[in-house]
Amino acid sequence: MKMLINGELKDKNAKIKVINPFNNEVVDKVPLGDVEDVTEAISAANQARKIMSKMSSRKLSRILIDVQEELKENSEEMARLITLETGKTIRDSRVEMQRSLETLQLSAEECKRVYGETIPMDAAITGKSVFGFTVKIPLGVVAAITPFNYPVNLAIHKLAPALAAKNTVVFKPSLTAPLAAMKLAQIMAHHLPRGAVNCVTGLSSDIGDKLVTSPVISKISFTGSVPTGLSIAEKAGLKRLTLELGGNDPLVVLDDADIDAAVTAAAAGSYLNAGQVCIAVKRIIVQENVADDFVAELVRLTKKIKLGDPLDPETNMGPLIDEQAAIIVQNKVEDAIKEGAQLLCGGARNKAFYQPTVLDEVQPDMEVVRDETFGPVSPIIRVRTEKEAYKMANYTKYGLQAGVFTQDINRAKRAVKNIEAGSVLVNKQPTFRTDNMPFGGFKMSGVGKEGVKYALEDMTRTKMVIIG
Ligand code: NAD
Repeated sequence: MKMLINGELKDKNAKIKVINPFNNEVVDKVPLGDVEDVTEAISAANQARKIMSKMSSRKLSRILIDVQEELKENSEEMARLITLETGKTIRDSRVEMQRSLETLQLSAEECKRVYGETIPMDAAITGKSVFGFTVKIPLGVVAAITPFNYPVNLAIHKLAPALAAKNTVVFKPSLTAPLAAMKLAQIMAHHLPRGAVNCVTGLSSDIGDKLVTSPVISKISFTGSVPTGLSIAEKAGLKRLTLELGGNDPLVVLDDADIDAAVTAAAAGSYLNAGQVCIAVKRIIVQENVADDFVAELVRLTKKIKLGDPLDPETNMGPLIDEQAAIIVQNKVEDAIKEGAQLLCGGARNKAFYQPTVLDEVQPDMEVVRDETFGPVSPIIRVRTEKEAYKMANYTKYGLQAGVFTQDINRAKRAVKNIEAGSVLVNKQPTFRTDNMPFGGFKMSGVGKEGVKYALEDMTRTKMVIIG
C-alpha cells in the first residue's frame, strides 16, 4: 500500500511490515514516510483549501455519497483487510464496514445543515441600528490521527465531517493497522479535488510531531491513548483539539437488576474485539448480595467463547493486536492474582491470544482496574451499597461511558446524576454507540465530542457579520 500525497500515490524504499497477529504473516508493507513527505502533504492540503472552500454544500454532499458507493463496492475486501491487520473477527469487521457506510451517509446529510444564527443585536444599548448574524466557515487544514482498533470507522468520523465542513485533511493512520485506512483515503481521493485528502505513514516521532506542530494545521482530531493525547496537547499550541482518549468504563449491577440481562451485557461489553475497545466494560461493579449469581453466570458465558482464526465466521474472538499487547494484559492479571484477586476462568496466553478472563474479588487499587486494560478481562469489584457503587464507578481518572443495571427508575436517575461520564447507559452496556450521537468522555477520556453533527460543528469557525 502507498501513501497518498497531492492526489498521487507515493512509495518509499524504506518500508514497515504490517503483521497479521493471528499467524505472524506479513499482510503488506507500507512506506516509512519522513518529515519531507508530511511537509509535502500539508502543503498540498493547504493548496486544496481554495477549491474546497468554494465548493457548494450540495456538491460536497454528493461527493460523500459517491465515496460511500465506492466504499460499499469494496466493503467485503476492506472487512477482510481489517481482520488481517488487526485480528478482529470477520463478523465484527463487517459490522465496522456497515457502520462506516452509515457514518458517511450521516456526513453527507449533515453537510447540508451547517447553519449560523441571527443575533438580536438590539438587545444591547449600542446594537440598535445594526443587523448581525454568524456564518460557519472552514477551519482550513485538519490533521486526523487514528488508532488501530476501528481503523476505518474512526477515520471516517474525522475525515468525513472535516470534508463536509469544506476543510482539507492530512491523515495519519495507526502504523500497526494502516491498510484499510489507506485504502479508504484512496477511495475518497477518487472523488475529491486533488490534495483535499492526503494520507501519510511513518514513525510518530517524526511525522506525528511534524503534523502536530505545523503552523498550517488548524485542528488536530486525535483518537488514541491518554499518554499520546497528552503529548499532542502539549505540543499543539493554539490549534483546535478534539481528543478521543482511553476509557475505564464501569458496568454497575445493582441488586434489583435483571441479572441475566446484566450478565449478557457484561460479556458483550468485556469481550468485543478481544476487549480492545475504548468503551469496553473494564470494571464490573456488583452489589454483594447478587454477586455470586452474577459471577457464576458470567463465568458460564465466558467459557463458551470460541477463540480461533478471525477469518472463520464461527470464531467469537481473535488475537490481540500483537503479542506485546497480550503480555501486558497477562502481567496485569497475574499481578492482580498475586494481590488477592480470584481467577475464575481464563488467565492464559498463547502468543497474541489471551483467553477471556473473569477475575473476582478485585480491589480498586489493583493495576488491572486502576488504568485502562485493553484486553478481554472482566474484573469484578464487589460493593455493599448503591452509594458505594457510584463512588467506585467514579474512582478512576477516566470518564468515557458507564452502564448501570437496575429496574428502579429512581436508582437509574441517581446513577445518571452521580456517575461522571460522557454517556450513562441504563440497562445497556457502555460498549454501545450510534454514529450520530454525541460521543466523547469527561476527565482524562478526552476533550470535545464526535458523532457526525457534533464533529462537524467543531470542524468550523464562527465568523460574525455586522451590517450597519
Ligand atoms: P496510540 O495512542 O498508541 O496511537 C494512536 C495514534 O497516535 C496512532 O496513529 C499512532 O501512530 C499515533 N501517535 C503515537 N504517538 C504520536 C505522537 N507523538 N504524535 C502524533 N501521533 C502519534 O493508541 P492505540 O494503541 O492505537 O489505540 C488504543 C487506544 O485508543 C486506547 O487507549 C483506546 O481506549 C483509545 N481509543 C479511544 C477511542 C475514543 O473514541 N475515545 C476509540 C478507540 C480507541
